[in-house]
Amino acid sequence: MSAIKSPTCQPASWQKIFCWLLFIGLFLLLTRIGARHYFREEAVKAGTFPVTVGRVIALWAVGLMLLQSLLAARLRVLDRLFGLDGLLFFHRLAGIFTLTFAFFHPQLMYVSGLKKAGPLSLQQWPLALGGLCIIGLWLLVVSSVWRKFVALSYEQWLRLHKIAAPVVLLALGHMFIIESAMRKGLILGFWVVLLVLWAGVLLAARVVIPGRRAASEAFVVSAAEKVADNVWQIDLEPEEGVERFDFFPGQFAFVAIKNPELTGEEHPFTIASAPSQAKTLQFLIKNSGDWTRKLTSVRAGDQARVCGPFGVFSACRHRPANLVMIAGGIGITPMLSTLRQLGAEKSVLPVKLIWSYQTSAGAPCLGEIDDLRGLLPNLEVVKIATREPAGENVGVRRLDRATLAKILPAFKPGDLVMLCGPVAMMHETRQTLRSLGYPGSAILSEEFSF
Ligand SMILES: Cc1cc2nc3c(=O)[nH]c(=O)nc-3n(C[C@H](O)[C@H](O)[C@H](O)COP(=O)(O)OP(=O)(O)OC[C@H]3O[C@@H](n4cnc5c(N)ncnc54)[C@H](O)[C@@H]3O)c2cc1C
Repeated sequence: MSAIKSPTCQPASWQKIFCWLLFIGLFLLLTRIGARHYFREEAVKAGTFPVTVGRVIALWAVGLMLLQSLLAARLRVLDRLFGLDGLLFFHRLAGIFTLTFAFFHPQLMYVSGLKKAGPLSLQQWPLALGGLCIIGLWLLVVSSVWRKFVALSYEQWLRLHKIAAPVVLLALGHMFIIESAMRKGLILGFWVVLLVLWAGVLLAARVVIPGRRAASEAFVVSAAEKVADNVWQIDLEPEEGVERFDFFPGQFAFVAIKNPELTGEEHPFTIASAPSQAKTLQFLIKNSGDWTRKLTSVRAGDQARVCGPFGVFSACRHRPANLVMIAGGIGITPMLSTLRQLGAEKSVLPVKLIWSYQTSAGAPCLGEIDDLRGLLPNLEVVKIATREPAGENVGVRRLDRATLAKILPAFKPGDLVMLCGPVAMMHETRQTLRSLGYPGSAILSEEFSF
């Protein structure tokens, strides 16, 4: 039995633990700074304990704000440990906590009587900086958590998100002006280190890294064609002199294409080709909105930019004894890359692919997947077409609990499930898998949205 071979795919647990320890250490330090400087002087007096709490949570909010750039900067080193989706999930969570802490900070000041409620005078402009910061945080969090509800397109949301750096500066201005203890001695040194880290990450992410990567990201469209209903295949090859990056099956890249019909922003797509295949990268892209709809205008010869690889959704990080792949619709792309890689390795790994799609006409590469059975002796394919008369899998019309219970083997240690598809399908399938005895640690999943 062969495992999937790939260059850089071992999970690094101790590095993760180190990052978590740094994170916890930072917050213990912030708590200590807040408590040490205020607790002794104020909490001993009746009614001032809320001030201590209010100030400690304000420090936590500033600490989280400074960390946000690190989480969203697409740093490869962090992506390899936590995956970009994991980092962005944490980024969103950190945003919600920041807003909560920042929101309660002034309330605790007023509750304690340290600040008097009422209109601000001109001399209190540093307080106004804090107020503006909280308004900015509301805008950032509401537009991110309820983007669809407030009817913002992804691009509008991205533009609005650019206020994040000024919001951090407002918070810092508010803190340093109001609180003289933050401008003294070791505490000042602590903030300088955090600030340098924050500014360094911003500079690296927005200027240095894009500049350095530009040359290695230059690709050109070598083929563009419709391969199924609403699905477009785009093949990209590196421009002359550019070395294609290494990746492992299941990873994705950010793609931008230079074409008069398309806006220039980057979109994430899984690389459907295998690492061992020629230098061309293949993407299978479903028409899902404004940008993907216009891919019909892409032609061979169009210039493109590919920034990658990213993500940790890969069986090769785990070396499974048995692999189950469950895909819904276009969620087949990471599975296809994995199967193509296994095919190239002539792997004997037992693999069960369960692919649910609406109609065969909208399912790309059906024939190729059937042919892969010739290369992979232990590959079993279950196709479920939910909107056409059941063919090969008679009686199976939906990927529900009954279906999965019928077609999935009982869980054994070493089994690994890869799950990718529409959010609702993934949620339901994950619950079903758990109820069938598959532990959470044996289920890898990737959502096609951040
Ligand atoms: C890790 C990952 C892998 C993916 N792999 C594939 C794939 O192999 N094949 C495929 O067809 N689709 C894939 N997608 C989905 C694809 O990125 C979106 O369908 C596409 O970006 C939609 O853009 P749009 O403007 O046409 O649609 P819109 O209607 O504008 O957006 C639809 C949704 O896509 C997301 N989105 C839009 N623009 C961006 C952007 N610039 N950056 C990040 N997210 C954005 C937003 O969540 C948005 O709600 C993947 C997504 C992710 C996160």
